[in-house]
Amino acid sequence: MQCRTTDIAIVGAGIAGATLAAQLAPHARILIVEAEAYPGYHSTGRSAAFWSESYGGPAVQPLTTASESALRPYLGARSCLHIADAEGDAALDTLAADFAGRAPRLRPVGRDEISQIIPGISDSYVRALEENSCQDIDVARYHADSLAAARHGGAEILTDAGVAAIERSAGGWTLETRAGRIRAGIIVNAAGAWASGIAAMAGAMPIAITPHRRTIVQLVTDPAMPADMPLVMDAAGRFYFKPEAGGRLWLSPHDETPVAAHDVAPEELDVAIAIDRLQRAVDWRIVRRERSWAGLRSFSPDRAPVYGPDPRAEGFFWFAGQGGFGIQTAPAAAAIAAGLLLGCAPADFVAGIDPAPYDPERFILTAS
Ligand SMILES: Cc1cc2nc3c(=O)[nH]c(=O)nc-3n(C[C@H](O)[C@H](O)[C@H](O)COP(=O)(O)OP(=O)(O)OC[C@H]3O[C@@H](n4cnc5c(N)ncnc54)[C@H](O)[C@@H]3O)c2cc1C
Repeated sequence: MQCRTTDIAIVGAGIAGATLAAQLAPHARILIVEAEAYPGYHSTGRSAAFWSESYGGPAVQPLTTASESALRPYLGARSCLHIADAEGDAALDTLAADFAGRAPRLRPVGRDEISQIIPGISDSYVRALEENSCQDIDVARYHADSLAAARHGGAEILTDAGVAAIERSAGGWTLETRAGRIRAGIIVNAAGAWASGIAAMAGAMPIAITPHRRTIVQLVTDPAMPADMPLVMDAAGRFYFKPEAGGRLWLSPHDETPVAAHDVAPEELDVAIAIDRLQRAVDWRIVRRERSWAGLRSFSPDRAPVYGPDPRAEGFFWFAGQGGFGIQTAPAAAAIAAGLLLGCAPADFVAGIDPAPYDPERFILTAS
């Protein structure tokens, strides 16, 4: 049986594990341990690929805003329109209040402008907020470049290597994986939807990182919307959609169904709900449904991410709970985590961010 030794074993090669490995690799021996045959198979490869400073709420916004400069090579123009009918009216007010006096700038938009931006929109949508800073992210390229930077820094990536058991051993940890045994000084838990299971194996604090299914369906509509139309978010949380190249539309029913961590697939009912909600909102004809997919968005109990050392298990580091914002916050998250792991001052671009709201320590009173 093979046995590898490393300073830091990062469990999970999604965007979290990849970006953190890229930051750490020049400073320590890094081994990324990935269960699947190729990295990015789970949430990272299934996102809606946008960067929105309001998405995730005020607790997440500093991470998203700080990440913009590092993400710039991967960002493309988009904009976002948060639209409200009577049902979304209060939520639109809350959105405006949450971000009053802070990024992003939200511009009130009236009925006439809404119908110019979204031809065929129902008359019931009378108010909107424009989030002009919203952009698209080239997720696949960002993830691939992060893995390449990690490799370039000396990190090794072990695929087909699901971690099945973790034991405390002298001076560190022993991980039993499908690809052999690994001894590591530190374990980083970047296992996305599986983060609670990894923590349980290691005897770390039981923080409930709960996966929630989110569905996207790709449609062709008549008329086809221009690909540069804004991302449209229903303020009441019933759907969002964004046009893509070739007259296609990505549509989500904004579902958030708690499920066990698994290789999730879309449910027909969620796809039908998405289409029904779109048809109530606009007068477009659906020409074709091309494909649909689902992914897991995994949240901690307070919906803020969890970055930092476990209060009970020495050498176990949480990097989980990235919810629906794990791509857009990845550079800042990785910089904060790298600073904590290396015991160094964090990089300048995150120096102003207080890491306390993301510290696993905040769950110590509720963890049994
Ligand atoms: C439909 C949808 C739309 C989204 N849209 C956006 C968006 O527009 N913008 C945005 O910023 N975010 C978005 N997100 C959220 C984003 O995709 C996630 O927050 C992010 O991908 C999480 O990255 P991760 O690396 O933590 O998880 P993952 O990408 O899931 O990676 C975790 C990895 O850990 C591995 N693993 C698990 N268990 C083990 C084990 N025992 N041993 C070894 N490896 C293991 C898994 O195989 C997996 O590869 C969206 C998510 C979904 C589902």
